[in-house]
Amino acid sequence: MSRAPLTKSRKFTEVQQRLSSEGAAIFVDREGKEALYVLSPYRIDYVHSYAEDSPFFLGLAEHRLRGSRCTGCAYVYGTPRGHCQFCGEPTEWVDLPLSGKVHSWTTCHFGSEAFLKETPYNLVLVEFEGVNSLLFSRLKDCGEKDIYVGMPVEARFAPEPKFSITDVWFVPATKK
Ligand SMILES: [Zn+2]
Repeated sequence: MSRAPLTKSRKFTEVQQRLSSEGAAIFVDREGKEALYVLSPYRIDYVHSYAEDSPFFLGLAEHRLRGSRCTGCAYVYGTPRGHCQFCGEPTEWVDLPLSGKVHSWTTCHFGSEAFLKETPYNLVLVEFEGVNSLLFSRLKDCGEKDIYVGMPVEARFAPEPKFSITDVWFVPATKK
């Protein structure tokens, strides 16, 4: 028995849908040329060490945001680093506040595979009181038109941490 004819489409998004359901599809380009596409899943186990950044990711699992403070000039980093970029001295870990303000933001209407389900999504640079540099994160539960510079935001943490930067995100601060 021969296989049913493959779906042909001029839209690549439709080809992608067919690939997941049928494993193969034909894409027809603007000039009418046809190309067969097949789905070939593969898997990679990537073993990655967070090394000296480990306390940051372990902190997320404990619902803590950890930055670092220079032991020389006391500059406080919202994105932790091992040594000060200004005076070169080592830093020590500090807990950051769990609420801050939007310093800057952008809304992404396309993203990598991990974020496609929540696209469009917002990326923010968060500033914290008493902290000299910013933290890059996502802002959820907020439409693009409702975001503004200086907007109060607070951190949320994944209930089941994956020790990834996506274990934390921000939402508009609840009014008190
Ligand atoms: Zn320093």
